[in-house]
Amino acid sequence: MNNFFEKLRFKNKKGHLLEKPEHKWIAENRDIADVFSELSNIGSKYKNLSELLETTVFINSSGQYACAIKADVNIIIIYPELCFLMRNRRKEQALAILLHELAHLILEHQKNGVENDKAQVEADLFSAQLGYGEELLLFLLDQVQTSQVEMRVSALRRFLNIKERASVQSLQN
Ligand SMILES: [Zn+2]
Repeated sequence: MNNFFEKLRFKNKKGHLLEKPEHKWIAENRDIADVFSELSNIGSKYKNLSELLETTVFINSSGQYACAIKADVNIIIIYPELCFLMRNRRKEQALAILLHELAHLILEHQKNGVENDKAQVEADLFSAQLGYGEELLLFLLDQVQTSQVEMRVSALRRFLNIKERASVQSLQN
């Protein structure tokens, strides 16, 4: 019996994100499935991200069904606003946000007790480093401009400016 569960768990862990039973809600909607397929593609290019994706469960907070989750998996809760972005073809913004959330797990912010403002900026910059900085900036500019959001916006702008200048330089060289 024990053996059976071990095997099942192993199989689930190695399976594609969309094939996990917990991710039925993702596979059922074409637009949402599209975003997560892309996330999986991005993940496959980076060892730490692909390992994290194997052990992360994405939960739809407005889901109808109960879901039991083992304690050794990471959990990312998807709120209706993010589902809205995915369903309305704002795929790149949704990916920017998902990468931000994955960054909190990769950088172990919770475990290391990183201060919230710093954790948000670090997660944003992780997403930006993977090429989603501009999308994230657009998303943040759409939010209520609290002091934390303003700080995140200026950190992203600094990052994007530096990147822009670097690419201009490489064109000139
Ligand atoms: Zn965050």
